[in-house]
Amino acid sequence: MPDFAGLVPDLARVWQNLSQILPDVARSGPDGTQIYDAKRGSFVDLGILDVMQIFGRAGRPQYDKSGHGTIITAHDKLSHYLSLMTRQNPIESQFIGSLTDNLNAEISLGTVTNVDEAVKWLSYTYLYVRMRFNPLAYGITIKAAQDDPGLEKHRRDLIVNAAKQLDKNRMIRFEDATGYLFATDLGRTSSHFYIKYDTVEVINEMLKAIMTEADVLTLVSNAQEFEQIKVRDEELDELDFHHLQSCPLPAAGGTENTYGKVNILLQTYISRGNVDSFSLVSDMSYVAQNAARIMRALFEVVLRKGWPIMAGRILAMSKTIDKRMWGWENPLRQFSILTPEILHKLEAKKIPIDKLREMDSKEIGILIHHQRMGPVVKKCVSQFPTLGLDASIQPITRTVLRVRLTITAEFSWSDKVHGKTGEPFWIWVEDPETNHIYHSEYFMMHKKMVVTEEPQQLVFTIPIFEPLPTQYYVRAISDRWIGSEFTSAISFQHLILPERHPPHTDLLDLQPLPVSALNDPQLEQMYSFSHFNPVQTQIFHTLYHTDYNVLLGAPTGSGKTVAAELAIFRVFRMYPNAKAVYIAPLKALVRERMEDWKVRVEQKLGKKVVELTGDVTPDMRAVSNADLIVTTPEKWDGISRSWQTRSYVKAVALLVIDEIHLLGEDRGPVLEVIVSRTNFISSHTEKQVRVVGLSTALANARDLADWLGIKQVGLFNFRPSVRPVPLEVHISGFPGKHYCPRMATMNKPTYQAVKTHSPGKPALIFVSSRRQTRLTALDLIAYLAAEDNPKQWLHMPEMEMENIIVGIRDSNLKLTLAFGIGLHHAGLHERDRKVVEELFVNQKIQILVATSTLAWGVNFPAHLVVVKGTEYFDGKTRRYVDFPITDVLQMMGRAGRPQFDDSGKAVILVHDIKKHFYKKFLYEPFPVESSLLEVLADHLNAEIVAGTISSKQDSMDYITWTYFFRRLVMNPR
Ligand code: ADP
Ligand code: MN
Repeated sequence: MPDFAGLVPDLARVWQNLSQILPDVARSGPDGTQIYDAKRGSFVDLGILDVMQIFGRAGRPQYDKSGHGTIITAHDKLSHYLSLMTRQNPIESQFIGSLTDNLNAEISLGTVTNVDEAVKWLSYTYLYVRMRFNPLAYGITIKAAQDDPGLEKHRRDLIVNAAKQLDKNRMIRFEDATGYLFATDLGRTSSHFYIKYDTVEVINEMLKAIMTEADVLTLVSNAQEFEQIKVRDEELDELDFHHLQSCPLPAAGGTENTYGKVNILLQTYISRGNVDSFSLVSDMSYVAQNAARIMRALFEVVLRKGWPIMAGRILAMSKTIDKRMWGWENPLRQFSILTPEILHKLEAKKIPIDKLREMDSKEIGILIHHQRMGPVVKKCVSQFPTLGLDASIQPITRTVLRVRLTITAEFSWSDKVHGKTGEPFWIWVEDPETNHIYHSEYFMMHKKMVVTEEPQQLVFTIPIFEPLPTQYYVRAISDRWIGSEFTSAISFQHLILPERHPPHTDLLDLQPLPVSALNDPQLEQMYSFSHFNPVQTQIFHTLYHTDYNVLLGAPTGSGKTVAAELAIFRVFRMYPNAKAVYIAPLKALVRERMEDWKVRVEQKLGKKVVELTGDVTPDMRAVSNADLIVTTPEKWDGISRSWQTRSYVKAVALLVIDEIHLLGEDRGPVLEVIVSRTNFISSHTEKQVRVVGLSTALANARDLADWLGIKQVGLFNFRPSVRPVPLEVHISGFPGKHYCPRMATMNKPTYQAVKTHSPGKPALIFVSSRRQTRLTALDLIAYLAAEDNPKQWLHMPEMEMENIIVGIRDSNLKLTLAFGIGLHHAGLHERDRKVVEELFVNQKIQILVATSTLAWGVNFPAHLVVVKGTEYFDGKTRRYVDFPITDVLQMMGRAGRPQFDDSGKAVILVHDIKKHFYKKFLYEPFPVESSLLEVLADHLNAEIVAGTISSKQDSMDYITWTYFFRRLVMNPR
């Protein structure tokens, strides 16, 4: 033992402290200044800081005038310690060695998103301080340091180098030209689990879609984390012994190699083998700790790659390390209450846990020859986490399937066994033929769900491909319990897929039609533009010169209002005594139309326009005299029900239904009823009523068209890509199981999106709640505050804004407006809201953070639209649900201002597990399903009361008029 004269009593404590400081066992080695470091795998010199620390203990302030410190070390180290003790030696930075890993961590967290930010980030490090003081130590020439005192270039070189390395390993994506740094799943996973760059390299090299358990152990053993572990002669015998005794799987490399040693130690750890030599004890605990971490990371990597076989295997191996128990041992070993004797008996009988579940405690008692323990075993069996799975499916399109998974807890809860919160599971859907996972998520079975036995529902979508596979599997695997795995098959045998979609209407390369084509000076002056756009040009003739029913499917922003107007003008010109009805499914849209048409149609054309909504009910005379009625489906449904007694309903010659794709949503049924009734009325009065449907680009336009009685002529279904202003869509996935933290991680990317895509042009940010408008805006302000010009989004003199703010009531809004950020939600005072809208439309403030509920009403296009999250909290079911896809389309449609922009930008930030779903839908046309079935009885009843239907035959006729009937034929599920 080393002899530190005079220090002996203190010394023991210091060594003890030291062993706590170093994570692994630190013991004095062959000479006094060496300790054993398992991370390095050998004895290392005590660092000078440790020596100083130990020496600091010498001399007791109140009793001694001086203290003694003695160092006993090898002769060749003497001068080394001597110089360290006597000279004040600065500590140099070790940061360079881990620069890549640290940079990856910052990129994964979103704090660093481009090279500039990374260069700045580097200036906060100790490395930067030392590099400037002591450039030579960091390979920087004196000249270089003098030429560039801030070391800007050197820092940039370091960053670019590290970024390139990370990119090579697919841990980030690095765009050389722009300097952007994007996080990848692999990078996020490695950062989350503190996996080193070199290890990721090993993973990239060795990981395959199918590997045996032994292969996986070999991979893990090759991790960079273990490189320092040494093979020592004196340990070989013991290792050989454990190789034979404790390793059920082949350990590649054997005892003579580092990775072989790691492998043997890991297996020995799992097998609970007894290791004697203390360096092996230390190495083994180091190996176990790190292997557990690496295995978890591997699991996440393969899960994201979508490899089911490996995901199952590696998750199982992970649990094997955690529990120090092999997968083939009896899962009941996880209950500490059961004695080894009982477990041996159970294992000898080879009775699977499923069988035990069917036996009663008496039978079990007999089986294990231990009557008293029967009930105990039975209780453990009933506490073993067990799930019932039931999946039902519904095809949405030929390529997308909606899965409804019902999960029931079939075990009893015990706080002692399960803890107080919940049991985590991994759920995924795999195609066994292609060995691919199509959906995966982490699911927490909370204590309450288990206790109440209430079935839980998960709803998600997965892709399907033709020819249809025979089946997919849904798996639920416990994150903690070995052997707790459940499977349910999804069979495709009797699945009927929806019709293949008919081709889209091609946009013809026509000369843009001038507005003078209207051939009516009064109408022409209604438009501020000189020419119709390509879509309008192509449909002009049909709408303006014929009476065909029309279904126009075209993306939001393509100017469909003009299509409605063309049809309305035709009524004004050809049937001046008849009425036109315009129906929009939302009051906000009606309001918007009214504000516009009150000026353009009523004042300029002298035609009477009336609004008919729940809020506004004009007297019957006004309605009878109106030329154009602007209304909501509910209101028109109520009015037109008694069409027989209301002559003005019979005077309707045109029914324009805007946003008809909402047929699939909540309000769908009522729209269906209106159109069906119109057809019904028309067939009775023998007066043709023209129906014009406007919608976003549709997937199954043909069915909808059939139902509207539209033949070849009136059907226009343009591709979603046919936008007057092309839209550039970016979809980014965000990990994180919990809503609020996930939303918070989206703030920086939102800020970044504005900076990248719309630094000076208006940007609309849609969020899910009032609270989120505030939180998002405040975070944006925090990012602005770090900039040179924090008020860069305010495009008016500050003084002027101050004056406006005085009149604002909402305190949050007062704050955000000063930075050029507006808030917009239903909780705002009417006046506040108007002010915000005006400021935004006039580009005085650049940013508007709005709730998505207002997406429909807000018709202020912006250059950039950010959809920050696609879920909202549903008060009824008390959980987060997805916006209807139509809402997301509508929000995106606000991007790109027809008269100002060449292109619009939409950035959609979604939960990563939904990214593929949105990718699919946002680029593909949208299918409309009937939602009449659920409310059919109500509507039939209403029609009977109204007298439209008086016999069974009538009701049959009525039903065949509905869109529901069409879809029923096409898609019986
Ligand atoms: P949609 O109903 O298809 O979503 P809108 O009718 O609301 O589209 O029109 C979107 C925007 O395009 C409006 O601001 C409108 O004024 C503008 N717009 C429509 N037609 C033209 C045109 N021919 N030239 C320029 N701008 C147009
Ligand atoms: Mn519209």
